[in-house]
Amino acid sequence: MDNCLFCKIAAKQIPAAVVYEDDELMAFKDINPAAPVHLLVIPKKHISTLSDAQPEDTTILGKMLALAPKLAEEHGVSVVHAEGGPTRGYKTLINSGPDGGQVIYHLHMHIYGGPRPWKGMH
Ligand code: 5GP
Ligand code: ZN
Repeated sequence: MDNCLFCKIAAKQIPAAVVYEDDELMAFKDINPAAPVHLLVIPKKHISTLSDAQPEDTTILGKMLALAPKLAEEHGVSVVHAEGGPTRGYKTLINSGPDGGQVIYHLHMHIYGGPRPWKGMH
């Protein structure tokens, strides 16, 4: 997509702190982190919002979600199973449309982690 910021990042036309890449996905650090760890996972293919994903995109949506625990592990924010229940952990979030708080119209999943508090987030 012309003029899509995240398409340009996917095509390496705009630099980003890339932390993961394969044929279909890319993950990079959010430029304005809202938590000690704040990553964005995108499909390289342009999909504007989650509501624009088609049945054939189901596999890529699954891959985006499945990448979260791997990246959390690599960035030291994974769930830790401790006596009395899990500790630590991370948040995954997809904003969709204006009321969903979406600003960039290329589907992306946020991963937030690290010691709290995080800038006003629950
Ligand atoms: P949204 O509100 O659309 O879910 O989130 C968009 C996110 O993209 C924001 O957290 C914002 O900080 C991040 N962002 C905006 N522009 C850039 C950029 O040029 N590079 C990177 N790495 N992140 C960006
Ligand atoms: Zn795009």
